Amino acid sequence: MEVDVSKQQDYKILYQKLLRNHIQLKKYVKRLENELVRLKSPPLLVATLIDIIDDSRAIVRSNNGMEFLVNIASHVDKKNLKPGIKVGLNQQTLALVEVLKSEKDPDILAMEVIERPNVRYHDIGGLKKQIEEIRECVELPLKKPEVFKKVGIEPPKGILLYGPPGCGKTLIAKAVAGETNATFIGLTASELVRKFIGEGARLVRELFKLAREKAPSIVFIDEIDAIAMHRINSDVSGDREVQRTLLQLLSEIDGFKSLDNVRILAATNRIDLIDPALLRPGRFDRIIYIPLPDFSARVEIFKIHTRNMNLRNIDFEKLSRMTEGATGADIRMICIEAGLFAIRNNREFVTMEDFYKAIEKVFERKRSKNDKERTSNYIK
Ligand code: ATP
Repeated sequence: MEVDVSKQQDYKILYQKLLRNHIQLKKYVKRLENELVRLKSPPLLVATLIDIIDDSRAIVRSNNGMEFLVNIASHVDKKNLKPGIKVGLNQQTLALVEVLKSEKDPDILAMEVIERPNVRYHDIGGLKKQIEEIRECVELPLKKPEVFKKVGIEPPKGILLYGPPGCGKTLIAKAVAGETNATFIGLTASELVRKFIGEGARLVRELFKLAREKAPSIVFIDEIDAIAMHRINSDVSGDREVQRTLLQLLSEIDGFKSLDNVRILAATNRIDLIDPALLRPGRFDRIIYIPLPDFSARVEIFKIHTRNMNLRNIDFEKLSRMTEGATGADIRMICIEAGLFAIRNNREFVTMEDFYKAIEKVFERKRSKNDKERTSNYIK
């Protein structure tokens, strides 16, 4: 029998074409099947992870505040589990089946991390003596640790800045970091007072871990009184939690060597409330008062905050005389308000008149704030 070779060739080509189509259609069906499974699967409950008990169990808090001890599905990567993150729970079993990725780490969110802040000493008005003292205890050990080693002394470990709000405590901490090429890691102590047990202490550990990683660095804890009040014998679990956080902070400070590349600064408006344990040698053993700016400091602060402003005939000394009792933050506000008055009047330059109005406005606001505080204290 004679074989038709050309026909055989045609069949072969057709067969290959069909095979390709078949493979493509199979892939398409698979995709549709997956999509169907996805659409049919029930939604997950969203909850916050509170604590990880062991490899397979965790405590979570749902949106209505109920807490559950749940199983962790085996496919969940335990490395990604951290208290405070959002997780997805199976509706029926409440098993933790998914870690919901957040853009930002909940710990880092609580901290302000600035690699070499752009604040310098010349951005601070007044406070010359204080800056000098801080340079000795912070800048010198970071820049020339060998000097301390040679002389055989240890620089102070921690520095506590205290004084009225808005007078430049945070500003100084940022300026030292800026001048020494260090990373500024700022945290408000009230952020450490967490809802969940053990979370504050964990955050303190994370804070110092980050500081070591980013060294040379400056850790700045603002409003330290929130966790460092005189310890009281309290049975209230919230108070005990705050004390646990403070103990963690003390042990982190104790664990530091003075000449490590990490310096610790803290600030408070209420030094009278601070637990003496914190002020012991080897902890916050240098205490520096940051006062309200005096006449000449106010002149300097006005000059700093008007550096980039278009001014006409400004008498800084007169402005300083008019603003007795103002903080650095108030003066900054006055400069901004004066600029706004000029804009409102369609002017591209700022005059003394604008400053007079701005001073009145800022002082009026200050007075009503003080009145409100007095009233609320009275009601309490
Ligand atoms: P708080 O106790 O409320 O945290 P603080 O003492 O840390 O206050 P800062 O945050 O340093 O105050 O000051 C707030 C702003 O006020 C600063 O960003 C700065 O613009 C301005 N300021 C305060 N003091 C000075 C100063 N001495 N020189 C220049 N600007 C100042």
